Amino acid sequence: MTPKPHAPSWPRSWYSDTAIACPPRPPLAGEVRADVCVVGAGYTGLVTAIELAGKGYSVTVLEAERVGWGASGRNGGQIVTGYNKPISTIANWVGKDDARHLWDLSEEAKAILADLVARHAIPCDLKWGYLHAALKPRHLEELRDYHHELEALGYGGTRMVERDEVPSLVACRRYVGGLYDARSGQLHPLNYALGLAAAAEALGVRIHEGSRVTHIDHGPAPSASTAAGTVRARFLVLAGNAYLGRLAPKIQSRIMPVATYMIGTEVLGPERARALIPADIAVADVNFVLNYYRLSSDHRLLFGGGVSYSGLDRPELAGLLRRTMLKYFPQLRDVRSDYCWGGHVAITLNRTPHLGRLSPTTYFAQGYSGHGVALTAVCGRLLAEAINGQAGRFDVFARLPHAPFPGPGPLKTPALVLAMTWYRMRDLL
Ligand SMILES: Cc1cc2nc3c(=O)[nH]c(=O)nc-3n(C[C@H](O)[C@H](O)[C@H](O)COP(=O)(O)OP(=O)(O)OC[C@H]3O[C@@H](n4cnc5c(N)ncnc54)[C@H](O)[C@@H]3O)c2cc1C
Repeated sequence: MTPKPHAPSWPRSWYSDTAIACPPRPPLAGEVRADVCVVGAGYTGLVTAIELAGKGYSVTVLEAERVGWGASGRNGGQIVTGYNKPISTIANWVGKDDARHLWDLSEEAKAILADLVARHAIPCDLKWGYLHAALKPRHLEELRDYHHELEALGYGGTRMVERDEVPSLVACRRYVGGLYDARSGQLHPLNYALGLAAAAEALGVRIHEGSRVTHIDHGPAPSASTAAGTVRARFLVLAGNAYLGRLAPKIQSRIMPVATYMIGTEVLGPERARALIPADIAVADVNFVLNYYRLSSDHRLLFGGGVSYSGLDRPELAGLLRRTMLKYFPQLRDVRSDYCWGGHVAITLNRTPHLGRLSPTTYFAQGYSGHGVALTAVCGRLLAEAINGQAGRFDVFARLPHAPFPGPGPLKTPALVLAMTWYRMRDLL
């Protein structure tokens, strides 16, 4: 009996149910040539492809499942300023000048994203406005320090929010204040990815879905092979991030794929939704394992948080996250959860993105540590610049020191669980 061809599809989520029309792309068949072969059609791979095509390169993208099937089609949709670590901490590792460049690049990331959405008319509900919410006075102090750091960097987007202003932004009684950032925001993550793919194709990029790369040669004549074909190229870009697995073990050890998940409520209706988040902004608290949420365009609450080390196929996850949501919004007790989905976010030990070269022909970017919606935009641009012979800005990222996670393969997770448990206890205290 001939085996059935693999028909990839997205895991069900509110995003997949509201995805823009997107016919499947054919898998790679036979041998093809391109200047650049990109492995992975998430934001990293797609922005890289767009930037390269704009410079005149022929690009083939190989995606194991569907465009946006990985973290790019499942995330919280939160566009966050900066990095997971303060610039002052980053300066301790790379010096003040590189840290300043990295700050500027993180700002460029948001500008590229906004420009891509506008230029290609991507219907992804892009909106600006964001609250970093403080659950404790200690969080508020941390946010004040962060606010001062941003001001010192010349960033004019933030202001402190005191307790009495919180209800005008979000109807959660637990917050003691926060930091409002007018230049962070939100979007529909899967539709952003699908829009990027359409933009790339309009520029001549070829995208093959259902095309898992099982072998790469990153020597002087690089290639990427699937079960049904091979792309021979001058350059490879590995953009598989948390889902790349063992294709490149050397970079795999620098990231930890952590399962995290989201729920979507039933439709609340415009009035009830607006009562919940009157400012219609994205919100995240500042716990180490943070919770983040926003309203959907059809007036649901999309609430994310939680971390699972034993995978995503656990029926109790939806209930656990719902209980957390009700701690923030007890007024939703009568509301059903219609959706629960999860994905893998790739974190690095120092929580900054990991960019580099496996060889002179093979580049990679991964490990955005929860800030990838925005940062992938600039990293895609820098990958393209480096391939085009201008690696100065790429190398600012490549100089960030990235140690492997301690412990061989399976021992990495227990070490991380221990560390996370410690931070969780600190949050609770
Ligand atoms: C639940 C969740 C919530 C998140 N929330 C936020 C948030 O609110 N804000 C934020 O900034 N970040 C968030 N993130 C992280 C963010 O989504 C990622 O940083 C970003 O999407 C990374 O994009 P990427 O293109 O590098 O990787 P991905 O989107 O994961 O894309 C990688 C692609 O490569 C493909 N692939 C892998 N291996 C192969 C192979 N061998 N052959 C072919 N294809 C391959 C995969 O199928 C996948 O489609 C969240 C992540 C998750 C999971």
